[in-house]
Amino acid sequence: MVFKKIVSAVLTAAMAISFTGLSALAETTYTLGGVAHVQDQGDTEAVWNGETGELTLGSRGLSRRLEKINITFENNTGYGGGLEYRVHIQDYGWTEWLPAGTDAGTAGQSKRLEGIEIRLTGDLAAYYNVLYRAHIQDYGDAQGWVANGALAGTTGESKRVEEIVVKLEAKSAPSFSTSVIYHVHRQDYGWESDWKANGAVSGTTGQAKRLEAITLSISDPAVSGGIKYRTHVQDIGWQDWKCDGDLSGTTGMGKRLEAIQIELTGEMASNYDVYYRVHVEGFGWLGWAVNGESAGTSGLSLRLEAIQVMVAAKGSAAPESVAGISSVRPECSFSDADFDRIVSEGLYSGWITAGGSTYYIIKNADGTGSLANGVVNIDGTDFVFENGKLAPNQRIVSNNKIYYTDGSGNVYRIVDGDKPMVALTFDDGPTQYTSQILDILEANGGKATFFVMGCLVSGYPGTLQRAYNMGCQIGSHTWDHPTLTKCSADKILQELNSTDAAVQAIIGCPTSIMRPPGGAQNGTVASIIAQTGKPLILWSVDTRDWENKNSQMIINNVLNNVKDGSIVLMHDRLECTAVACQTIIPTLTAQGYQLVTVEELALLNGGMVPGGVYRSF
Ligand code: ZN
Repeated sequence: MVFKKIVSAVLTAAMAISFTGLSALAETTYTLGGVAHVQDQGDTEAVWNGETGELTLGSRGLSRRLEKINITFENNTGYGGGLEYRVHIQDYGWTEWLPAGTDAGTAGQSKRLEGIEIRLTGDLAAYYNVLYRAHIQDYGDAQGWVANGALAGTTGESKRVEEIVVKLEAKSAPSFSTSVIYHVHRQDYGWESDWKANGAVSGTTGQAKRLEAITLSISDPAVSGGIKYRTHVQDIGWQDWKCDGDLSGTTGMGKRLEAIQIELTGEMASNYDVYYRVHVEGFGWLGWAVNGESAGTSGLSLRLEAIQVMVAAKGSAAPESVAGISSVRPECSFSDADFDRIVSEGLYSGWITAGGSTYYIIKNADGTGSLANGVVNIDGTDFVFENGKLAPNQRIVSNNKIYYTDGSGNVYRIVDGDKPMVALTFDDGPTQYTSQILDILEANGGKATFFVMGCLVSGYPGTLQRAYNMGCQIGSHTWDHPTLTKCSADKILQELNSTDAAVQAIIGCPTSIMRPPGGAQNGTVASIIAQTGKPLILWSVDTRDWENKNSQMIINNVLNNVKDGSIVLMHDRLECTAVACQTIIPTLTAQGYQLVTVEELALLNGGMVPGGVYRSF
């Protein structure tokens, strides 16, 4: 019953409190006066507000209880209405609401005032806030200012109020917009001293304090109707629906709230959506729930610690895009059994981690949940999931595209199989010109394949590492360029194995493809190379750069002959080739070709097999 009265007070006062303007009183258009009855002192002399507009009753630093107050109020604001208050007295509890000028409390009974609530009435309440601050035994001023009917002081803690300071503040603008206001009762603290409105956090995070009860109401409803809600309470389960300022949950029983459901009623439900989310032990903030969905958990024995609630006109922005409210990626971990339940029953939507993997749970229309899979755009960023798990540092082939993800699972490179692509390849390096080609590739976002000679790589370890880090592919061109059709099986294998060892020593992995020197190969050579697992990569566009040594001829050869799927043969031991690349690479890029590695070309075109011979894709 107590809470119903508080709510009606706040409703009257139109919750649009701005605590930022506390010192902005230009002039006082009211007079507050009063008398206090103080322990060991009796009635004090009458006092009035000073230039700051503040009225101070009682004492501080003397450990003396306030026993009675009488506040007078002269309203010169031009708005009709007045001021009233009530007090919570030791052993007696709350008084009725009393108009200004009335004694509230006792004298001669040694009873302390424990709590004080003050509110404005009439039109005045729409244009002014009444602010007040109690100096409390053991707490001092820690509670800070409260406003418009909220509790200053405590109840149930046997703490005396020693001093009360009161003032009025003009609202920056009278706001009659519809909002939801709410109030939580939490462990070790009781009811929070102030009501929260429109998405503000009520409760605590990071303090491991459970919510025990909530009340909600609609402030300044533009249409008829209201709000109803119910809570899932520890050991009790879902309680009956409550509405418009009634308490849901328990107080004094030490039981946690575990989940809430909120709905609008009447015309409110036709015109508005109510969004809410909860901060859950172990989870952090859960995703936003809307219009009666369950927020929290009902079978995991986890406490709610804070809530946010807001109403939005139907068709307006959902909370995710409202300024000041951002989605979060909670860190949490669960047993496999709990995790499956959380997903399948739709107890949660959003990011979640379990068993060392990160998932994104999508809430389905029927209230169940499912894991994001494949490539999913979340808040404007593409993420890749494999078997529901966020895939960091991965290459995923899906829907005729190749996706590369960084250490956070974000996609940073996409090769689109529906668009033209070319594999530029360079043989006989690395050399002093290789880094020039890498510069041009990097400037154009292109990749290439370098068929390196094993005998050269130890001379250019930085170049090789850079090429690999850029996403270029390193292939084998044998150790020292023999004609393989004239080599024994042992010699061929030794050429490839020694090159792989040299490459692995630098970049950490061996090659997976090879190009026979001079393109010399036959069935016997291919079958021997098949033992290494590598395919043989030839070419479909031959620049003849080693022969003509003319940059313009190289450019013409490429641009006149290239097509989707081409493999282009060049040599990075030639300066003329590095020069030609300064034209070839930007031009192909501008023509819409994706410059890809041989492996990428193959991945989107049927793949390769060991010992297979490939000239284009
Ligand atoms: Zn060669």
